[in-house]
Amino acid sequence: MSDSEGEDYLFKVVIIGDSAVGKSNLLSRYARNEFNMNSKATIGVEFQTQSIDIDGREIKAQIWDTAGQERFRAVTSAYYRGAVGALIVYDITRRTTFNSVSRWLEELNTHSDTTVAKMLVGNKSDLNNIRDVSVEEGKTLAEENGLFFMETSALDSTNVKIAFDMVIREIYVTVSRKVL
Ligand code: GDP
Ligand code: MG
Repeated sequence: MSDSEGEDYLFKVVIIGDSAVGKSNLLSRYARNEFNMNSKATIGVEFQTQSIDIDGREIKAQIWDTAGQERFRAVTSAYYRGAVGALIVYDITRRTTFNSVSRWLEELNTHSDTTVAKMLVGNKSDLNNIRDVSVEEGKTLAEENGLFFMETSALDSTNVKIAFDMVIREIYVTVSRKVL
């Protein structure tokens, strides 16, 4: 039996990672197909709601941006509350941001339960010529922590839609399993 037509899903997804890795631009690229060279332009945006179609059903994701809080190397517990998906972002041209991933994961795990769908995102793949973290390192870290992994570019759009959609799809699959 199929569910009643009016049934709606709304999933909260958070984006975390060091300052200037491209979190706000990944979100604006995904939700509005926009990119800003000036990072300050997007500060203050709380979340964007994006719908995707899965199995002919409209799934809504409310995707949260840190609005600059991460400059203090941590975000508040309110930010994580109710999250069922997370993208942990680093900048492939800055190793320090990659080294911070484990700390972000710890913070995420402290504030949410283990079923959160997580994707490790190595952003700025367009800057391959000044890369500081190899694809292999990203993959390995993701495997060690049970995360999906993808390199993206908010600048040229590479893998942005795929990365967000994959997280939302994974949440949907998890939730559907619980319901059944
Ligand atoms: P946030 O602090 O993590 O939200 O990072 P922002 O989205 O504000 O981006 C920080 C800076 O990196 C800005 O100058 C962006 O234009 C730039 N940026 C973001 N994503 C990319 C990308 O994929 N490629 C390149 N080359 N620059 C990017
Ligand atoms: Mg930002």
